[in-house]
Amino acid sequence: MIPTETKSREAICRLGASLFRRGLTFGSSGNISVRLDDGWLMTPTNVALDELDPASLSRLDEQGRLTGGDPPTKESFLHRAMYAQRPQDAAVVHLHSTHSVAVSVLEDIDPADVLPPITAYYIMRVGRLPLVPYYPPGDLALADAVGALADRHHAVLLANHGPVVSGSSLSAAAAAIEELEETARLHLLLRNERIRLLTPDQVAALRARG
Ligand SMILES: [Zn+2]
Repeated sequence: MIPTETKSREAICRLGASLFRRGLTFGSSGNISVRLDDGWLMTPTNVALDELDPASLSRLDEQGRLTGGDPPTKESFLHRAMYAQRPQDAAVVHLHSTHSVAVSVLEDIDPADVLPPITAYYIMRVGRLPLVPYYPPGDLALADAVGALADRHHAVLLANHGPVVSGSSLSAAAAAIEELEETARLHLLLRNERIRLLTPDQVAALRARG
């Protein structure tokens, strides 16, 4: 069931406050969007996610033009790059969450799939996580790089920057980006340990569930 615009506005503000309270975002970093019938709701630029006002959220039309609320995040192009390739998805969350950023700068990661199969929930909620090369803030080439991966991946990690995750609902996108951040934290905790990851057969069985 598609939530009403009022419900979506409230859900964005609730999620923003929750992410901020738990240290998953800080300052005015991080942004959230939800697809509407005729455009998007997006968090505004220069606002901390624990200070969002449902009435002030940016409302964009299908061409990305502001039709209500405050000006959108300067990273709105990242969200639109995901939506353009993923018509089935209804929400996007982008964070500069600490452990995910830390993993994105490790020298020995596989750019085709950054994090190892530590838990079943990571495989089911995130799947394969490709690394998007570094681009400076505002460089629109970053949108092209995200767009090139987004038809096959609902979660990508921007090098030296942070994760972008879409989902079939706002709660699905939030659950996936939180799983990603916790798995990044586990990966860093375990870097110097001898560990048993899920086996290729166990991973394949999880992926076959769809
Ligand atoms: Zn960012």
